[in-house]
Amino acid sequence: MLYEFYAKSLLTLPSMTWSGELTNELAAFSLLLCLVGLSNLEVRFPKIPHSAKQSRQSYRTNISLFVFNNLLMAVCSVSTLFVVAAKYSGYGPLNEITNPGLKALLAFLAIDLLLYVWHQACHRLDALWMFHRVHHNDPYLNASTAFRLHFVEIFITNALKALLIVMLGIDKMLVLTIETLVTLCIIFHHTNIGFKYERILGCVMVVPFIHRVHHSTERSEHDRNYGAVLSIWDRLFGTYSEVEPNALGIKGKSPMDFLSLIKFGFATESPVVARPDNLDVMIAEAAYYRAEKRHFYPGYEMRDWLEAKKDISNQLYGNKIRKNNSFWQNISDSCHWMFANFKNLQSNLQWH
Ligand SMILES: [Zn+2]
Repeated sequence: MLYEFYAKSLLTLPSMTWSGELTNELAAFSLLLCLVGLSNLEVRFPKIPHSAKQSRQSYRTNISLFVFNNLLMAVCSVSTLFVVAAKYSGYGPLNEITNPGLKALLAFLAIDLLLYVWHQACHRLDALWMFHRVHHNDPYLNASTAFRLHFVEIFITNALKALLIVMLGIDKMLVLTIETLVTLCIIFHHTNIGFKYERILGCVMVVPFIHRVHHSTERSEHDRNYGAVLSIWDRLFGTYSEVEPNALGIKGKSPMDFLSLIKFGFATESPVVARPDNLDVMIAEAAYYRAEKRHFYPGYEMRDWLEAKKDISNQLYGNKIRKNNSFWQNISDSCHWMFANFKNLQSNLQWH
C-alpha cells in the first residue's frame, strides 16, 4: 500500500485537490514530505556520522528496492487484495461500535499489535528471517532504511493486514489513515537523529534510539524492540531493551547492493566459519569435562553431548548461526550425537 501511495504521489501531485478528507494523494504527499524532511534533518544533525559515500550507497540501494517492490507489487495485485479487503470490511465487529474515536483507537491498536507479533515471528522463524534480514542488512541506518524490504515480506505483511481488516471490519478511510500514520512512524524511527525529549517520547512510542537497538549486529540485541508505533508492546511482552549498539547491520554481510539483497533474501543461512575437521573430538572433550564434573553419574550422556555441542558452536561461530529450535533440528542433533558417540566409542571407553 505504501508503495502505491508513493507511486501515485509522483504521478498525481500536479492534479491534487483538497477535498476536505484524507485522500490517497494527500497521504502519499505527506509521507513523501516526511521522508524528505527527516532525510534533511539526519544529514544536518546525524546521530551516527556516515560519510557522504556511505549515505549515497545506502539511499541508492533502498530507493532501488522501493522502486522494484513498487513495480512488483502492482504485478502481484496486492493492491487488489487490499481493495477487496476494504470492500468486505462491512461485516467485522468494529462496525457495531458507533463512537468513531473508540473505533479508530481499537483499529489502530489491532494493526500495531499485528505488526509487533509479525515482526517477532520474522525474527524467531528462520524461514521468515531469510527475507527480513534484507531489512537488517543496512549498516548505515537512515530514513530510507524503512524501504529496504524484501518483496516476499511485503506481500505476506499486506496479506495479513488485509485479513485483519476483513476480520475486524476496519473501514477504508480508517485503513488509509492508520496506514499513513504507521508508515510515518516507521520512517521516523529509522531516522539517524537524536533529540532532547527522545527518551520521554520513547515511553509511549518507538523513537530512533529504541529502534537502533533492533538493528544491532548482535542477535541478543536485534531480537529486541519489535514495535512499529507504540513501545508499550515491547514493555508489556518483555522484549524491550535500551542499549547503544556497537555496530549496525548483519555481521559479515553488510552492506549489500540491490541485486545481492534480492538474492540474499532467498539464500539459506550457511556458517560463515568453516567446520573444523576435529569438531566431534572438541565436542567429545567438552562433554567429557561435563561428565567428570558430575563424577560420571550415568544417564546424562546425551544431555552432556548436546550442551557441549552448543558451547563449542557458540565459541566457534558466535551468533553467526541463528538458533534453530525446530523439531527436525532436535532429531538431527540426536542422530549426530549417536553417530559421534559411535565414532568416539574407543575414547569413551578410555574415560571409564
Ligand atoms: Zn527486525
